Amino acid sequence: MKALIFEGPNIINFKNVNTPKLQDGDILVEVKACLICGTDIRIYRGKKTKGVRIPSILGHEFSGVIVDTGGKIDGFKVGDAVSVAPVIPCLACYSCRHGYENLCLNRTAIGYEYDGAFAEYVRIPKVAVETGNVYHISAEVPFEYIAFAEPIACCINGQRNSPIKLGDVVVIIGAGPIGLIHMLLAKASGARTVIVSEPNEIRRNLAKELGADIVVDPRIEKLNDIVMDYTKGIGADVVIMAIGISSLVNQTIDLVRKGGTINLFAGFSIGDMSPVDVNKIHYNEIKIVGTSASTRKDHQLALNLIQNKRIDVSKLISHRYSLDNAVEAFNKAESGECMKVAIIP
Ligand SMILES: [Zn+2]
Ligand SMILES: [Zn+2]
Repeated sequence: MKALIFEGPNIINFKNVNTPKLQDGDILVEVKACLICGTDIRIYRGKKTKGVRIPSILGHEFSGVIVDTGGKIDGFKVGDAVSVAPVIPCLACYSCRHGYENLCLNRTAIGYEYDGAFAEYVRIPKVAVETGNVYHISAEVPFEYIAFAEPIACCINGQRNSPIKLGDVVVIIGAGPIGLIHMLLAKASGARTVIVSEPNEIRRNLAKELGADIVVDPRIEKLNDIVMDYTKGIGADVVIMAIGISSLVNQTIDLVRKGGTINLFAGFSIGDMSPVDVNKIHYNEIKIVGTSASTRKDHQLALNLIQNKRIDVSKLISHRYSLDNAVEAFNKAESGECMKVAIIP
């Protein structure tokens, strides 16, 4: 089969490799769409290494059709259209037993420990099938929309950590695909006002088009002044960092109200440090939370929201590439001159 092989930092190559061999209980999915995630780019650039094998096939935001199974599998058959939650929890460790399966201590994932979906076919291992990571999907919804289930699930998990309530004022730093998904979810949760800060004009315009109430160009406008004017000096209820720049973290403390929550949603690189004003965190009772991956429950909810058109992802895909142009697709995705980039094998 054709696949994109990650062969080390800054090296990805389009190659012909053996189609995965199935073992008993496995499923083979023909990939119909796989989105490039910010994490894939960080792996490509050597900024994320945990769970990543060399060589391997990346790609964890995907959907497709079952084309083969290792024996008879209850509930699934050849021809079924499916979505797959990539994180496979062990269900037995401390985190799994306490309701945090996204933080599973023995966690494995498709696109990391198992080869991912920047390929014609992806093998879904028996353990993922048995754990309930495979979901039937509606044939009426485009596969590339279904592929958004993973990033939306991660944003749902993030918003559980920094809950948005009816009437809240929310600030989102960064209007890439993740920032915009957060904006759509915040609106769906009943946020009164969503303020989006983004230096890139194309992204700012799309944020506006998709429903952002206020968009800010941080290069020429003072985000802090705008938030404080709007909230009459109170500050936002929730601030979501949808961009992994650690030097920006301290500024978010001045955007949030007393008792408010800051979510460091986007990933940072290992060892990234940032001085923060601990005095303000203490006296203002500010909560700073992180977010990692998602649970199977989040994945199901994300699929429901996509399939019921509660979250419209149609405008979030800006570019589509075939597998043999995937290297170009990665460079495009990294350039920031785009939203989500989809690989359509
Ligand atoms: Zn992702
Ligand atoms: Zn576990």
